[in-house]
Amino acid sequence: MCLVYPNTYAVGMANLGFQAVLRLLAEDPRVTADRAFLPDGPRAEWPRTLRSLEQDRPLGDFDVVAFSLSFEADYVHVLDCLALAGIPLWRRERGVDAPLVLAGGPATFLNLARATTGPLGRDGILERSEEVRGAYRPDRYTPEYDGARDLVAFHHHGPGSGRVERRFVADLDGFDTNSEVLTRESVFGNMYLVEASRGCEWGCRFCAAGFMYRPVRYRSPEVLRASIARGLAERDTIGLVGAEMASLPGVAALCEEVAARGGRASPSSLKADLITPGLARALGAGGNRSVTVAPEAGSERMRRVINKNLSEAEILRAAEWLVGGGVDALKLYVMVGLPTETDEDVEAIVDLTRKVRARLAGSGQPRLGRILVSINPFVPKPWTPFQWEPMEAIASLRRKLAHLRRALGAIPAVETETESPREAYLQTLLSRGDRRTAAILARLHERPDAWWPTLKSLRGGAEGVDPDRFVHRSYPLDALLPWDFVEHSVDKRYLLAERRKAFGEIQTPPCDTATCHTCGAC
Ligand code: SF4
Repeated sequence: MCLVYPNTYAVGMANLGFQAVLRLLAEDPRVTADRAFLPDGPRAEWPRTLRSLEQDRPLGDFDVVAFSLSFEADYVHVLDCLALAGIPLWRRERGVDAPLVLAGGPATFLNLARATTGPLGRDGILERSEEVRGAYRPDRYTPEYDGARDLVAFHHHGPGSGRVERRFVADLDGFDTNSEVLTRESVFGNMYLVEASRGCEWGCRFCAAGFMYRPVRYRSPEVLRASIARGLAERDTIGLVGAEMASLPGVAALCEEVAARGGRASPSSLKADLITPGLARALGAGGNRSVTVAPEAGSERMRRVINKNLSEAEILRAAEWLVGGGVDALKLYVMVGLPTETDEDVEAIVDLTRKVRARLAGSGQPRLGRILVSINPFVPKPWTPFQWEPMEAIASLRRKLAHLRRALGAIPAVETETESPREAYLQTLLSRGDRRTAAILARLHERPDAWWPTLKSLRGGAEGVDPDRFVHRSYPLDALLPWDFVEHSVDKRYLLAERRKAFGEIQTPPCDTATCHTCGAC
């Protein structure tokens, strides 16, 4: 089989999920696994055929072509890879000799190995795929639409209930996920990556990872220490990967140990109120020049809506400790366009940045304390309490972003970076769309350099479904959502209750996995 990451080699090899699947396949004697990536460089210079890295074989020669998908933007690249491989884009156009095309996680691929040992052919493999827990076979489902409008039913015909179960590793210690193949050419090429946790206990209401990967699971300090020791033999920097790293039991001690051994621990994200002076010192001593803190919103009110459980005083304190601990610069990650947002909430982003800057400037180390404010439009995600909410209109997002760039740019030592609302539109479409998005993807694939004019021409529903219906519309709370058939273990009623609390500005305390059964995941 060929495992394809639908982005460049540098991006794909930085992905721990892709690396974990590679390792599982390499350990299975029944499987020969090659890798393939989207070619580098401008499209006009791409080779005519996509070939695998190890054996230099055309993709069409493999029994199975399996895509590893992490980000919505890569959906478009899946089509590029298929086209370069000469594999028809549409399933119905693939013949019996075509490879079976899969996407997703390791369990699906591994269990299929059994099916390929006999002369089953493509259809035979598909039949067997139904024995695989967690596998979704799209041709077994027929969607029913209300004209060109809503999805009203999703009929399943085949064995079982039609519910697709999420597969789940309960004890992460039995399965470590680290950088398997080290290459300087990957985007985190200077780091050895160690996955420290899955899920998150904090329940931020916009965050897909926080709901999809419930309940939170941490690797034990002993297992992490062993991974870190292996990593330090290869690289100076250890990337600790997880949704929120300041909650990781023993994180300060781990970071101190890395620093004491001459290395640098780089946690992927830190919740500001959990940063301790010890952790801040360990990060500074390890040589972290910049640390990301994610207030997500400027005002206390907005942070209550998104369930951030984080006060302004805690953000200011964390900033001071980090810079006092030896970190030169901070990155503040915030969103605009969140549900219920007002102009005052947007203005509060400027006020908060100004206060952080003032606190750092007063720390007695005026050279330090540069701030990069990263501003991103809110994208509603499936399986979150905000899955029903629309993305804000592009024009008003632009106005807010322009205002923030101006106002923040006037503060000394503060820089901004902003994500384009058009890209957020595409991301929302691919996040919240149903099967009809496939036709839109095919259109985008035809004119890859003109993706926005193409989307714009489809707005209003001139040719079938209007993409705005997936992006800018509130989904009715009782609507059948395109992803409802996936069994994600979190009860939809819990998501609705969290949504109600968001609009009431009521926060939910973090998970206590020992006693709580509220959402259904524990
Ligand atoms: S059942 Fe409770 S502790 Fe477990 S994931 Fe859900 S909310 Fe968190």
